[in-house]
Amino acid sequence: MRKRGQHFLVDRRISERIADYAYLTGSDSVLEVGPGTGNLTGVLSARAGRVVAVEVDPRLAAALEDRFPNVSVIRGDALRVDLPEYEKVVSNLPYQISSKMTFRILKREFEVAVLMYQREFAQRLVAPPGSKDYGRLTLNVGLRAEAEILERVPRTAFWPRPRVESAIVRLRPREDRPKVDERIFVDLTRGLFSQRRKKVKKSLAAMGISSETISRMESDLLEKRPENLTPEEVVILAEAISCNHRTGSVFYTHR
Ligand code: SAM
Repeated sequence: MRKRGQHFLVDRRISERIADYAYLTGSDSVLEVGPGTGNLTGVLSARAGRVVAVEVDPRLAAALEDRFPNVSVIRGDALRVDLPEYEKVVSNLPYQISSKMTFRILKREFEVAVLMYQREFAQRLVAPPGSKDYGRLTLNVGLRAEAEILERVPRTAFWPRPRVESAIVRLRPREDRPKVDERIFVDLTRGLFSQRRKKVKKSLAAMGISSETISRMESDLLEKRPENLTPEEVVILAEAISCNHRTGSVFYTHR
């Protein structure tokens, strides 16, 4: 039970506000991950044209089938099932899949996502450079989307009551999303943040980036610490690396 993060949102006003934040209209198709007992699903069904709800718990999925005329239920793991087309994602996510599900959502086309997360996770999404919560997650999400915390949600809004506080976040795809080899960007942030207090120059060398490549990079970026780099600055570093490694070979000696 616990492994599936089954804490149901019992405060109807919060479900209504979650739907408000997604500006739902009758022409929208909405993906809901983990509909559970259908508290949020009912609100989405009343406001959107179509809802596709993916639920891993077979009993909960069965109880939801045929309950709302415009809701179709997919039984299975939302990280693995084939997802249909949709414009919006609105979900009170099971927190154990927050990170993987967020990246699955970000890899596909969408207009807006309104997602309930554990509060600490939400804070990492919106953290400014230099703050303690700023890191790989902030950068990798920030490359693709703009994130904002809309509301903090207390534990009392759920049953059974979770041990952690929650927050509602809106994600919108970045229109000015920088073009970059995403594999290099992901590997680079992983390498840089394994030593977030070291200067970029040292971390790059420790990752096995050649001194020739490093010498072509902007010196003020090399002197920074990873925790102060913006997504755009990591893109600049990633581009310098990809120019020197067009063969696509693995260039990191330490992973
Ligand atoms: N949306 C409901 C609500 O707001 O009351 C339930 C939210 S509850 C936090 C998370 C739900 O996700 C549970 O119903 C759980 O069974 C389901 N779930 C957990 N892991 C899942 C997965 N990998 N794929 C799909 N659903 C999952």
